[in-house]
Amino acid sequence: MPEYDFDLFVIGAGSGGVRASRMAAGFGARVAVAEELYLGGTCVNVGCVPKKLFAYAAHFAEDFSDAQGYGWNLAGAGFDWKRLVENKNTEINRLNGIYHNLLTSAGVTLVQGRAQLLDSHTVAVGEQRFSAERILIATGGWPFIPDFPGREHVISSNEVFFLDELPRRCLVVGGGYIAIEFASIFHGLGCDTALLYRGEQFLRGFDQGLRDHMVVTLQNKGLDLRFNADVAKVDKQADGSLRVVLKDGETLETDLVLYATGRRPKLDGLGLENTEVTLDDKGFVKVDADYQTSDPAIFAVGDVTNTIQLTPVALAEGMALARRLYRPEEYLPVDYADIATAVFCIPNIATLGLTEEQARAKGHRLDIYESRFRPMRNTLAGNQEQSFMKLLVDQRTDRVLGVHMVGPDAGEIIQGLAVALKAGATKAVFDATLGIHPTAAEEFVTMRTPTRKD
Ligand SMILES: Cc1cc2nc3c(=O)[nH]c(=O)nc-3n(C[C@H](O)[C@H](O)[C@H](O)COP(=O)(O)OP(=O)(O)OC[C@H]3O[C@@H](n4cnc5c(N)ncnc54)[C@H](O)[C@@H]3O)c2cc1C
Repeated sequence: MPEYDFDLFVIGAGSGGVRASRMAAGFGARVAVAEELYLGGTCVNVGCVPKKLFAYAAHFAEDFSDAQGYGWNLAGAGFDWKRLVENKNTEINRLNGIYHNLLTSAGVTLVQGRAQLLDSHTVAVGEQRFSAERILIATGGWPFIPDFPGREHVISSNEVFFLDELPRRCLVVGGGYIAIEFASIFHGLGCDTALLYRGEQFLRGFDQGLRDHMVVTLQNKGLDLRFNADVAKVDKQADGSLRVVLKDGETLETDLVLYATGRRPKLDGLGLENTEVTLDDKGFVKVDADYQTSDPAIFAVGDVTNTIQLTPVALAEGMALARRLYRPEEYLPVDYADIATAVFCIPNIATLGLTEEQARAKGHRLDIYESRFRPMRNTLAGNQEQSFMKLLVDQRTDRVLGVHMVGPDAGEIIQGLAVALKAGATKAVFDATLGIHPTAAEEFVTMRTPTRKD
């Protein structure tokens, strides 16, 4: 008789947990996964997927407007929020089913409910008890909203996907990618939208040139951007609208306040105190380079650790851990360098490698290639919006260190260039690459003269 019920018990069926469970079961381990809310986790249910669907919906407004310059008459186009939410829910249910099948067909035992660690080898889910040789914590993150009077009147990204009605006016608080994306979504869907951030400028950590370009672009679209501003309190008024008082005394009237002010690891009630697991100074589960916590039987991957909070990263970590534990001969550590990432605001942002500021801090001397241009599609549309592209090249090695873009389909374009950077592409390789004409992306291989040189 085996000593434990399972070889691996995974807590959380999100990106990291599902990937680790499926892979480990595929390698012959006896695996169970507990999930308290929804299969597929944040990404599928209240993250990447529904967010991208909403971003598509928002984009149509601009497409309809641009279409007129191309000869289309679209008078009478209307938008139905309820239909969008219903169709989104149907699609997410379909994906939940796919995740269910993926797990069960791999032989993973699904346990529905909130898991709690009783000791380093025992998990409780409701009345049930499970023992496991190893346990994986893949419980992800949860939105963080600071305390202030009227906090109960604001929502987070968890609720925004299920609103009964589209608000007429909306205030988004935050300066990270989720805040910018939702400001774009609400604006695109026709809400009078303000974005409020307490710092000097949003998108901290992104390339400065890109951040500056985004400020101008979003302001030109009509978004009300407020930096160095913070909420003091929110009052609900008799008609259901919200009165937001800022710390400088100014007031704003709105119908919805969305807080996108960061996420914290989801650890409440998990029972870490019954194990040797420790947290780092930011409250994340502390792991070594092999996802081992301070408890020899317990591992952790994804957003619950201090990693890059993206689905492909959680997936890669889940896969790496399964290999390390059950197929060590195939183990490859995750390579965290040059991870491309996109912000699905309108227009898209995509970024890869070092920012100009990071490259300088690392001591690189740079040739910088920048281009601002009106994409061809905008010409007949009469749309003055400009795209922005930037390449950072190391003068000594000619290696391309960073690629940044604001413009339509930036995410799609930069994904391809991520392969080139992984392969160590130099500017000479970019120059030797012929463009696809006419595209916006060809600009990346036709920029010949640095706009700035160190
Ligand atoms: C609005 C939003 C948009 C995003 N957009 C993108 C994007 O465009 N691209 C991208 O790459 N990333 C995006 N992300 C980030 C991405 O969703 C996360 O990085 C990813 O989901 C992390 O995976 P994970 O497995 O660590 O955790 P999660 O996917 O959060 O999964 C954790 C799971 O554990 C479950 N759980 C927690 N505690 C327990 C418990 N005690 N017992 C049982 N189950 C438990 C939770 O219910 C959840 O299902 C977005 C996130 C948000 C919030």
